[in-house]
Amino acid sequence: MSDDPLLPARLRVAPSPTGDPHVGTAYMSLFNLAWARKTGGAFVLRIEDTDRSRYVPESEQQIFSTLRWLDLGWDEGPDVGGPFAPYRQSERLDTYRPFVDQLIDQGHAYYCWCSPERLAELRAEQQASKQPVTGYDRLCWGMTRDERAQLPGFTENPVVRMLIPEDAPVAFEDLVRGPVSAPHPDDQVILKADGFPTYHLAVVVDDHLMGITHVVRGEEWISSTPKHILLYRWLGWDIPAFAHMPLLRNTDKSKISKRKNPAARLVWFREQGYLPQALVNFLQLLGYPPAEGEQEVADFAQFVAGFDWTKVNTVGPVFDLDKLNWLNGHYIRSLSTERLADAILEHLAFTGTWPQPSAEQVRVLRAATPLIQERLTLLSEVPAKIAFLLASDDEIVIADDARATLPPNATEVLDAALQALETLEPWGHDEIQATLRRALVEDRGIKPRLAFGPVRVAVTGSRVSPPLFESLEILGQASTLERLARLRRRL
Ligand code: GLU
Repeated sequence: MSDDPLLPARLRVAPSPTGDPHVGTAYMSLFNLAWARKTGGAFVLRIEDTDRSRYVPESEQQIFSTLRWLDLGWDEGPDVGGPFAPYRQSERLDTYRPFVDQLIDQGHAYYCWCSPERLAELRAEQQASKQPVTGYDRLCWGMTRDERAQLPGFTENPVVRMLIPEDAPVAFEDLVRGPVSAPHPDDQVILKADGFPTYHLAVVVDDHLMGITHVVRGEEWISSTPKHILLYRWLGWDIPAFAHMPLLRNTDKSKISKRKNPAARLVWFREQGYLPQALVNFLQLLGYPPAEGEQEVADFAQFVAGFDWTKVNTVGPVFDLDKLNWLNGHYIRSLSTERLADAILEHLAFTGTWPQPSAEQVRVLRAATPLIQERLTLLSEVPAKIAFLLASDDEIVIADDARATLPPNATEVLDAALQALETLEPWGHDEIQATLRRALVEDRGIKPRLAFGPVRVAVTGSRVSPPLFESLEILGQASTLERLARLRRRL
């Protein structure tokens, strides 16, 4: 065992189930998990569902399934349990209340009966008069309920606020940023009128009780950290280490938001047909670019081995989808054809494109995977690429641009191809290629491009297709002949 009290580390990701998960949830999970693995510690998933007005029931399952898809699994969490269960804050309400009472008894917190209307008016006045110090005016501080009830803007259900001292600590040490200074906080609400704690109280109580050693989260929480540090001090608890990761940005430096960018939704990557390995590698690169001489392509195990907080970029990493596409192509090519076909089938089932593929679809897909692997960028491109192999012969439509490439002697080419292929046996791509080459190029002196072009157009309907002879093999002799004859009849 190490003497370092922060080792082995316990880290957590603590998403709020407010909609389908943001890509930032995966980004945070990656770094939390990396440090947990590097130190032989644990990674916890905690669901922070105390904001009932923003709660979306499906969201939790989406968090589970997208993080599992990325293989960023947790050691403890709502669905797998663990020594500090429950891991859903709405199931821990009894846990928070005694700490609220303790803070009130110690004079660090107080009841506030101000109505939402009064608070809104106060805010409007402060804004209108451009006061330098804004925030709650402490009207309720030091009053009993009955005293407060005499004054206007009273509501029966109070909230509880922190009494932030004048000299509240605002500076702290951040693992990736070094010394950080945040603005002086307002008298933060810690218990809401509905009896639920706010994020600020719940996060501190849970991080403490769950033994979290490192709080790794987005930079938007820097301004909250002084409040959290005060709560730790008041409650007499050790303060964890903090690492605030930079927000992901678009190429124009704006923040990635779910409202504006489809790519802010984690599930978007799965819908588009990215491989989880590619997305994880991409998120790793957003954390920090590889040092000189190091590879951009690195799996999670390699990332963990080299991981260090001091390497993390503090400037908002730019979300460059070209890089992700490149990585996806790389990982697609690095899979065995069997595993790639499995990944394609899994993707098409997930998107509902092929919810229950037929045996023929599976056969054609598996046979065609080696043909398309080289040039594939996204798994979602597959159905269009192999559609001609699954269509019936009368469904093949010759695209205009494909028809325009047909040479003047296309009828001669098609007749010769038909004749040569009619009796070919066995029907293998090498035999098909040799036969067509002999009949068209050698016997008739046609240039290969002009010889095979009409065959491709007849069979696929397009100018470009996966490798021709292999495609003809998969398609089969009868369909090949039928498609050649159909185009021939129409010329
Ligand atoms: N529930 C917060 C969120 O959704 C967690 C912030 C934190 O990690 O402390 O971002």
